[in-house]
Amino acid sequence: MIYDLHCHSNCSDGTLPISALIALAAEKKVDVLSITDHDTLSAYENIDPAAALNVKIIPGIEFSTQWQKMGVHILGLNIQLQHSAAEEGVAFQKKARQERAEKIAEKLHKAGLVDALAGAKKFAGDAEIARPHFARYMVETGFSKSIEQAFKKHLGAGKPGDVKQLWAGMDQVIRWIKDSGGVAVLAHPHKYNLTRTKLIALLDDFIQAGGEGMEVLSGAQGNDVTAMLRDLSVQKNLLASLGSDFHSPTAEWCRLGMHPSLPKACTPVWSVF
Ligand code: AMP
Ligand code: MN
Ligand code: MN
Ligand code: MN
Repeated sequence: MIYDLHCHSNCSDGTLPISALIALAAEKKVDVLSITDHDTLSAYENIDPAAALNVKIIPGIEFSTQWQKMGVHILGLNIQLQHSAAEEGVAFQKKARQERAEKIAEKLHKAGLVDALAGAKKFAGDAEIARPHFARYMVETGFSKSIEQAFKKHLGAGKPGDVKQLWAGMDQVIRWIKDSGGVAVLAHPHKYNLTRTKLIALLDDFIQAGGEGMEVLSGAQGNDVTAMLRDLSVQKNLLASLGSDFHSPTAEWCRLGMHPSLPKACTPVWSVF
């Protein structure tokens, strides 16, 4: 069985519409898929059960929050879509995301870029606005040379456009997930560039707040990282998850269904679904 429990559609910052995303998952022989858009469940309003015939869909979301002034992502897997706690979480984060977009645009204005909010909105369309939409506008206007440069200079961790204090706190996010029947999973623990001591402190706070799982495999990562995360998941008694964090077919290093299985020592998160 191939699981992919982390990917994005064009309801957030992915490029594929739901139907194309599910078709690609089927082509890649993914048996179980969770579409985990940033702070939104709108993908699930558009899923055609007939089109999803060969792919089992697990309802999911990737919530944004912060820990020690750093942006952190928490997946809510196997949640009940119509639950009031899930709806409350999405509504809160939607408002936070809109206010944040205005703040990001102000910061970019100070850096010399005009009309960034309207520009980013144009790229977002009906999707929830995210930093990659700003990055695309920055490249279109020639303000930045590339998406990578836009993040490196203006939008990435610690840069002016990295506005995060508006998100709900970690405790709140985990409560929304658990109240709506889901499992809270710390997304891509190695992407925060933390020292081992800090990563353990994050995991301890996450567990204290009710978190139950962590991604052991996320996107393209080295075997050393996988071994480190495997051992931490066992030591901390956390359920293990895996996902591609797929956003677009053009990013070839990050393909749907790219991870065939979890390390043997891990307890799969789907054992509690
Ligand atoms: P946001 O949800 O608005 O905070 O945007 C975060 C998203 O930006 C992440 O989920 C990634 O898809 C994307 N992202 C973050 N860092 C980079 C980067 N250095 N280059 C390209 N995309 C990035
Ligand atoms: Mn993203
Ligand atoms: Mn993420
Ligand atoms: Mn993601």
